[in-house]
Amino acid sequence: MRQPWRFSWWWVVGGAAIALAGAAAIARQSLEQQRALFETDARIVHRLLSQQVVQHDAILATLALLQPAPVASRTGSPEQRLPALYPRILSVQRSDAATPWPDPALAEAERLSRQSGRAALAPLDLPSGRYRLVLASEPASFALTIDLQALVPWEEWPMAAETSTVRVELEHAGQRHVVQPGRLQAGTGSRFEFHKVVAAESQPFDVVATQTVNWRQWPWARMLAWTLAVAALLAAVRHLQRQRLARRRAEELLRLGQVARLNTLGELAAGMAHELNQPLTAVLANTQAAQRLLDDDPPELATARGAMAQAAAQARRAAEVVGRLRRAVERPDSGGQRQVVDAVEAVRRALHLLEPECQRRSVAPALEGLPALNVMADPVALDQIVHNLILNALQALEQGPATQRRLTLTLRTVDGLGELAVADSGPGIAPEVLPRLFEPFFSTREGGLGLGLSLCETLASGMGGSLSAANAATGGAVFRLRLPLAANPA
Ligand code: ADP
Repeated sequence: MRQPWRFSWWWVVGGAAIALAGAAAIARQSLEQQRALFETDARIVHRLLSQQVVQHDAILATLALLQPAPVASRTGSPEQRLPALYPRILSVQRSDAATPWPDPALAEAERLSRQSGRAALAPLDLPSGRYRLVLASEPASFALTIDLQALVPWEEWPMAAETSTVRVELEHAGQRHVVQPGRLQAGTGSRFEFHKVVAAESQPFDVVATQTVNWRQWPWARMLAWTLAVAALLAAVRHLQRQRLARRRAEELLRLGQVARLNTLGELAAGMAHELNQPLTAVLANTQAAQRLLDDDPPELATARGAMAQAAAQARRAAEVVGRLRRAVERPDSGGQRQVVDAVEAVRRALHLLEPECQRRSVAPALEGLPALNVMADPVALDQIVHNLILNALQALEQGPATQRRLTLTLRTVDGLGELAVADSGPGIAPEVLPRLFEPFFSTREGGLGLGLSLCETLASGMGGSLSAANAATGGAVFRLRLPLAANPA
């Protein structure tokens, strides 16, 4: 499990998901809008065509009612004037007992009209762009030849006929006439369709409108704008979060630094006490010996004995003072604040805190073993030990080439204790150094204080645990911190 870079992937994946979902919603909404527009246009087209077609019934009915004379007057018979009034009517024909239809198809249509009692279509040839409509009446019957293209009231047409992508056709009995070809869209896409028969029973043409919207007509600009907006927003949030993280990390480092300084002072005092105690004890022993000698020979010198006694008393008092100082700085409460702590979380915290340090040294720490490990510990002390061990490992790793730097933190249970092993691929610990590692003021580093490990050991034993060091079989050093398990506090 690689820790520090885990985060960014969620941002990328989450951002991409939001951008995709939004872009898809925009595309869908645009498609719905185009569909609504298409349907509105198709309905208008149907209404306009119906209005035109239904007029033919009215014209034929009027002709049948008025029965205009076949002889042409100066101005022409009314039926001959009709094409001038209605450009779509190409011709008007009449037939009576004396004038049979020139085309048997018209005679058949007349028969049908007589049967149904309304106008009837002569057999169709829709692709030719014209059709004939016959109304049987007495004494004469009438037939209209209608130009389909002239039928369309272009001035009221809801679309630009040349550029529109909507195709409009009139269909009947398997034949079709293209009213508006519609610019064909290459490739596949969403297809809209509209079918409705014109509102004239005598001419039941089906108005068919179709439109194909392919991916090129998607609202790419809006989708791109949305994606950019999401990316910008996420970048801003991420930036703010990074800033907050950096601030929190700095605060935490400051806090750890303060705790470390306090602890180091304590350790310093403990070290001094340790150093001072020995000479003081020696002074005490010497003065006591001198006192005995004075007692023997030469004769007792009461003043000298008194002075020596006083010196001994002073020395004892000094030892006591040092002892008191030592007791005071020995973190009397260490171990007193023990509580259940997840050691894995403590390691994660330390890794997070030291992420910049790791990155600076090109070290990708690996966290292995148990996913959670509850131990009894003082959380602050535990943080500090883990922090120190990782920092030491990073310092050791600096001595090797960047490509071979490995830092592995393993959490497991051993002998009823929780164990954190911090293993590095650094130079390891020299055999002569190993026994002195936890001594106060022992350091092999230039400028090193030599208090870190001694403090860590003090803190570990204060919590009822231990800290040990060894060289790994594969090279590098391993530090093992063991602490009582929470379920089985020692
Ligand atoms: P300092 O870091 O000030 O030297 P420490 O008590 O932290 O004090 O460490 C004492 C010594 O232990 C170091 O100087 C170094 O020689 C040795 N040491 C600590 N950690 C490691 C490690 N991971 N690998 C090798 N040596 C180490």
